[in-house]
Order: sequence, then structure tokens, then C-alpha cells
Amino acid sequence: MATKTKWTKKELDYFQKRIMEKRRKLLTEMGDLRENTHIANESASTSDSTYAYHMADVGTDHAEREKAYYWLARENNYLRYLDRALQMIEEGTFGICQTCGDLISKERLEEVPHTTSCFSCKTNASKTTS
Ligand SMILES: [Zn+2]
Repeated sequence: MATKTKWTKKELDYFQKRIMEKRRKLLTEMGDLRENTHIANESASTSDSTYAYHMADVGTDHAEREKAYYWLARENNYLRYLDRALQMIEEGTFGICQTCGDLISKERLEEVPHTTSCFSCKTNASKTTS
């Protein structure tokens, strides 16, 4: 059989680097967002004009902050997925379908590095009938 059932060290190194990069970028973005919401609060209390603007727009401001928190929570989940993927690289289970044992396509792993099923198994699993 010509089908590969294992990633080479080089391929795993590549994925590890990619995931670490994504992780670092994500952490920076999350830090920026926290800082920005903080700065917005500060300027609201120190500058009169901004204060007035914020008072009139308090509903939107609140919604914006809520959106930021929601976003942060989602990014936190993503961060956990990336950590999981890195752990799987360590364990040697990364990128291998747990249903059929085949390697998961690189394209798919770029999108969802923590996935544990290949595209066809995932598609089959979602088809409960037939
Ligand atoms: Zn599969």
C-alpha cells in the first residue's frame, strides 16, 4: 500500500511551527484587545468630550464590550485547541484520523489543526441516516 500512515519528522516540525505561530499571534491579539478596552475606559473618565460622547453612546459601548468579551472567550477556546494540537504532536497522534487511521489532509489541518477525523469520516459521521 502506498498510503502513508505516519507524518515525517519534517512535516511535524512544519505543523508545530505553524501552530506555535498562530498561538503567538492569537495571544498578541488577545492582549491588544484587553488593552484597547482598558484604554477606552480610561479616556472616557479623563477627557470631557470623549466622556460626553461615551455617555450618549453608552448602550453601544456596552454592546461593544460584550462583543469583545465574547470574542475573547472564543479566542480562548481556539487557544486551547492549538494547545491540544501541540500536545498531539508530542504524543504522535496529530493529524491521524482516529476512525480510519489515515492521515488527515494538510489543507484540513491548516484550518483545524486539532481535528481527530479525516474529511470523509467527519462527513460520514454527520450523516446519521442512510
Ligand atoms: Zn478517517
